[in-house]
Amino acid sequence: MSKKVAVVTGANKGIGLAIVRGLCKAGYSGDVLLTARNEKLGLEAVELLKAEGYKNVFFHQLDICDQTSCLALKTFLEKSYGGLDVLVNNAGIAFKVKAPEPFGEQAEVTMRTNFWGTLWVCHALLPLLRPNARVVNVSSFVSKRSLNECNPELQAKFRSTEISEEELCLLMGEFVVAAQNGEHKAQGWPSTAYGPSKIGVTVLSRIQARVLNETRPGDGILLNACCPGWVRTDMAGPNAPKSPEEGAETPVYLALLPEGAKEPHGQLVWDKTVQEW
Ligand code: NDP
Repeated sequence: MSKKVAVVTGANKGIGLAIVRGLCKAGYSGDVLLTARNEKLGLEAVELLKAEGYKNVFFHQLDICDQTSCLALKTFLEKSYGGLDVLVNNAGIAFKVKAPEPFGEQAEVTMRTNFWGTLWVCHALLPLLRPNARVVNVSSFVSKRSLNECNPELQAKFRSTEISEEELCLLMGEFVVAAQNGEHKAQGWPSTAYGPSKIGVTVLSRIQARVLNETRPGDGILLNACCPGWVRTDMAGPNAPKSPEEGAETPVYLALLPEGAKEPHGQLVWDKTVQEW
C-alpha cells in the first residue's frame, strides 16, 4: 500500500502552519506536505516543525494562483504517493480595512486567491483523492454574514442545492465586474471584497460534496468548509481572541474524521459544529 499523505496550502505561517502542527500532534500516520508559495518561508517552517520533533513533515512549493504550480504538485503526488488522503485548502488573503487600493482592485485580487486559487487546487488534486479522503476548505464566518447581506435573489442562488460550479463561477465573476464598475451595491452585493470570495468557498464546498456523492458513492470521502474563528495571525491582527493552534482545531478535526464517519459532509462547520447556511 502507498504511504498516506496530507497537503496543507498556505502553511508557512498562521493557521496553516498550526494545522500542519495539529495533524502531526494528532499522530497523523502518513506524510504531511507543508506547502507555501515562497520556498524559503516554507522550508523555514518545515525546519521549525522538525526541530519540534515532527519528522513526517515535508515541503512542496505551491502558489494556488498559479495553475502550473498546482499541476506540478499533482504530478509530484501521483509519482511519490499514488494519491491523496487529506487536502486542507487554507491559503487565503484579506486586504486591511485601511488598504489604499480601489475596491474593484481589492475584489479582483481577493477573488483570484480565495475563490479561483482554491478552485484551481481542487481541479488539480481532487481527482487524486483515495477512498476515505478528507477535504477541508477554510472559509469564514464572514461568508455567512455576507450571504445575509446579499439581496434575496442572490441569497436564493447561493442557498440552492442545485447550483452548479459553472453558475457559481459566473456569479463570482459578476461580483468582480460589478465592483470594478462601482455597481456591486446596486446589484445586491455587500460592500466587502473578502465576503463574496468566502461565499464562493462555502458554496463551492457544498457543490463539491454533492458531486462526490454522485461520482464516488460508497468511497467514504468527506468534504467540508469551515471557519477557524477569529484568530491572531498576520491577517486578523493581535486582538483576535484565538491562538493559531485554537484556530486549527476545527480544520484538524474535519481533516481527521475517522474512517467510517458519514458526516459532516458538504457543511460549513465552526467550533466543530455544523452551521445553518
Ligand atoms: P495569514 O495571512 O497569517 O496566512 C495566510 C497564508 O496564506 C500565508 O501562508 C500566505 O502565504 C498564504 N497565501 C496567500 N496567498 C497564497 C497563494 N497565492 N498561494 C499560496 N499561499 C498563499 O492568514 P490566516 O492564517 O489568518 O488565514 C488562513 C485562512 O483562514 C485564510 O483562508 C483566511 O481567510 C481564513 N480565516 C482566517 C481568520 C482569522 O481570524 N485569522 C478568520 C476566518 C478565516 P505568504 O506568507 O506567502 O503570504
